[in-house]
Amino acid sequence: MPAELSRATVLEALKTVAGPDGRGNLVDLGLVSEVVLANRKVYFSISVPAERAAKLEPLRLAAEAAVKKIGGVDSVSAVLTAERSQGAPAAKPVAGGAAARPAARNAQIVVPGVKYIVAVASGKGGVGKSTTAVNLALGFQAIGRKVGLLDADIYGPSVPRLLGLSGKPQILQGRTIKPMTGYGLAVMSMGFLVDEGTPVIWRGPMVISALTQMLKDVAWGNLDVLVVDMPPGTGDVQITMAQQVPLAGAVIVSTPQDLALIDARKGLAMFQQVSVPVLGFVENMSYFICPSCGTRSDIFSHGGARHDAERLGVPFLGEIPLHMEIREKSDLGTPIVAAAPDSPHSAIYRDVATRCWAALEGGTTGAKAAPRIVIE
Ligand code: ADP
Repeated sequence: MPAELSRATVLEALKTVAGPDGRGNLVDLGLVSEVVLANRKVYFSISVPAERAAKLEPLRLAAEAAVKKIGGVDSVSAVLTAERSQGAPAAKPVAGGAAARPAARNAQIVVPGVKYIVAVASGKGGVGKSTTAVNLALGFQAIGRKVGLLDADIYGPSVPRLLGLSGKPQILQGRTIKPMTGYGLAVMSMGFLVDEGTPVIWRGPMVISALTQMLKDVAWGNLDVLVVDMPPGTGDVQITMAQQVPLAGAVIVSTPQDLALIDARKGLAMFQQVSVPVLGFVENMSYFICPSCGTRSDIFSHGGARHDAERLGVPFLGEIPLHMEIREKSDLGTPIVAAAPDSPHSAIYRDVATRCWAALEGGTTGAKAAPRIVIE
């Protein structure tokens, strides 16, 4: 009779699978990640040496087959994750997985050629963070800057869809990845490397490692600004990202409702905690203009982010209306700033970009340390 599904029975099943060298078993060799069970679906990852990952697909399949034999399993998803060998540079993502070792805290990643890295963050999901990140990046470009966009929202990468990009990026010599190009932006997203529908179950350290690779192993070239679409929220992963990535500043996106603002304040506190200057708040879905009659309604009690920004002493960067055209253009993969540059909405995104750029260049954010005047 097949065993009942539990983490223990999954591990028991994986003990029947020999390690990469045919010796021992996956569990006793310590290669299996935490096992995640959700609705009769089983997810786990197996750490393997980066250089052998391509050859170890049969091992992955054997592990899945072993777990499928357990009773009550609907599906099994195992991913190989590349383990960094001692002294080697960053590990490479393989087979939908990523390296499993966190970099040392505070050891900031160096991204040569990129002048400013700007995070676009939100305290919670669904506030329009990705839409803002894409249009802000295009806004920087519209004011003459050379711009890249890194989709670090590893749990739900949406930048490929928002820019209408598909396919896999090219691997260049030296195993660097050539970013894709969307509307003139250099773009990288985990969405290009992981097939849509593949459940992403990486734990925090793996996410950080994947992000490190997307910063270091991508041939970004010379950029004025690299906009980073952060994962929503203020958990450990986000804090570590904010700490590891040499951010010149952060833009926090919020909707006007109080609830979202509470989250936005958490976002502010997070960046302050790791000494990243907050360039300001953007209020998204700030007000609604009826497409047929042109009447404006403040359906989400508009203005909350502006008041909060004033109270907290953070710059307010702009209000973006809730507008059908913004959503429709996003859904079509033709972001508004590129598709309708003359629209009033595009002008708002360009204004936000102009304010951010001024803050970055002027050092008013602390992105460049201002001289300290000491009066004795
Ligand atoms: P997040 O990254 O915060 O999860 P998204 O950028 O994916 O949010 O936006 C969530 C949804 O809201 C998407 O369908 C997007 O098209 C829509 N959206 C975002 N901003 C606006 C806006 N200003 N007006 C209309 N729809 C918007």
